[in-house]
Amino acid sequence: MKREITAILLSSMFAVSACSAIGIPSRTTQHAPSKSSHGAAHWSYQDEDGPAHWATLSADYHMCAAGAMQSPIDLAGVNASGDVSLKLDYTPGDVSIVYNGHTVQANFEPGRAAAIDHRNFELLQLHFHTPSEHVKSAKPFPIEVHFVHATGAGELLVLGVLFVEGEANAELTTILDALGTRHGPVKTTLDPNGLLPHDLSVFRYMGSLTTPPCSEGVNWHVAKSHISASAEQIVQLHQVLGENARPVQPHNNRLLLAPVD
Ligand SMILES: [Zn+2]
Repeated sequence: MKREITAILLSSMFAVSACSAIGIPSRTTQHAPSKSSHGAAHWSYQDEDGPAHWATLSADYHMCAAGAMQSPIDLAGVNASGDVSLKLDYTPGDVSIVYNGHTVQANFEPGRAAAIDHRNFELLQLHFHTPSEHVKSAKPFPIEVHFVHATGAGELLVLGVLFVEGEANAELTTILDALGTRHGPVKTTLDPNGLLPHDLSVFRYMGSLTTPPCSEGVNWHVAKSHISASAEQIVQLHQVLGENARPVQPHNNRLLLAPVD
């Protein structure tokens, strides 16, 4: 009961800040359409501000409807296979945790990276969706974490990891305990490796941001293996986030590469 009351307080408190929320740091959105002097238009996951209406909320969000390479997608639509060489260089360190009105996000200091094809993308932040955004054969997972990386030129690489219910995840506990009933920023120490499966085989495709402005050109990777969170953690995170998953988008004959078994 105590947790439910806390969650309601969180919801009302965060509703105020939702309009000013920006999903990722501004330096990664240099190529997004210019914003009005009033900042980004309000959007949400429900009703008139929900995913089906994002493109109508602002001219800046037109790609949410016009784009042909949108995310998330159903990972069952695999049409190629091969092993992607995704190399991660993650170390524990200080993070700043915030609830930005759409998600709980941990912002990292510089110094961690993902590399593909000898190209380096710096880890900027990780954040959560409940339920998952990527699905398998229409089946969602209770939680998805997104690790957002960018090159100096602003090209994005996102790594998604899907959760199943099972053992508790220590890093998720760290994040939820540090934030408590606040919306931050709150400083703590986090080991991003604790939110990765041991096997880093990944699905790969080209997609978009899953939130407005839905910008395309995002190098998407979703781990084939899952990690776990306890039933209590799943409930706790869902009470903070609510439903914050964009529905799956059409494949449009994109290349979706699956790891070789
Ligand atoms: Zn995300």
